[in-house]
Amino acid sequence: MKPLIIANWKMNPSNLAEAKQLFNSVAKGVKNIKNTDTVICPPYIQFSVFNSRFPKNIKLGAQDVFWEEKGAFTGEISPKMLKDIGCQYVIIGHSERRNYQKETDQMVNKKVKAVLKEGLKPILCVETLNQIRRGLKGISGKDLKKIVFAYEPVFAIGTGHPCSLERAGRVRLTIKKSFKNIPILYGGSVNSQNAQLYIQKAGFQGLLVGGASLNSKEFLKIVKSIDFMSKT
Ligand code: PEP
Repeated sequence: MKPLIIANWKMNPSNLAEAKQLFNSVAKGVKNIKNTDTVICPPYIQFSVFNSRFPKNIKLGAQDVFWEEKGAFTGEISPKMLKDIGCQYVIIGHSERRNYQKETDQMVNKKVKAVLKEGLKPILCVETLNQIRRGLKGISGKDLKKIVFAYEPVFAIGTGHPCSLERAGRVRLTIKKSFKNIPILYGGSVNSQNAQLYIQKAGFQGLLVGGASLNSKEFLKIVKSIDFMSKT
């Protein structure tokens, strides 16, 4: 698998014009990137910034999903709806949702199953091995291969204090011992200065980028540094 760089825009930017501008500059910037895959996860309401004419190495992702297919679930979005609009990846269990929306591992588990059923790729955000075990309860070995983990220590998210490479690398190895073939991304205050190190030194297969993905220049620097490193 090529290194995977996921941009999580969270609840930004505050208007469609800015979202279009941001998406277009990232898409233009990654046009000639060959060794890295980029996924942009805008707010649902800004999904129209994406269209299939964009280069193949930039894909659309969602920041969340609901587990039911359709029906009376006010405010929710189903995996089918995401697929229909061209979305391929879904972030599930982000710590901000676990915190503000009180999302539990049981809810995360239902979401992972629903997303897999629709053929989308779940990006399962976790901090502990127990969260992984509970989030993956009842998922078959065949389906496990379609999942990507994102190790996101809460203290590092949006704080400007990334996890040390040693600690992140240690956690990655612990996860890997139990889940051998599942790619693991790192997320938490990634920027263009530290991005390469999490892959080169700590051994992650990609990155989940929040704050730095809202600045196209900074985000493209991250993507290009990983692309360059993967080439050499
Ligand atoms: C995130 O949104 O998952 C994240 C890691 O945010 P930031 O890069 O801003 O720490």
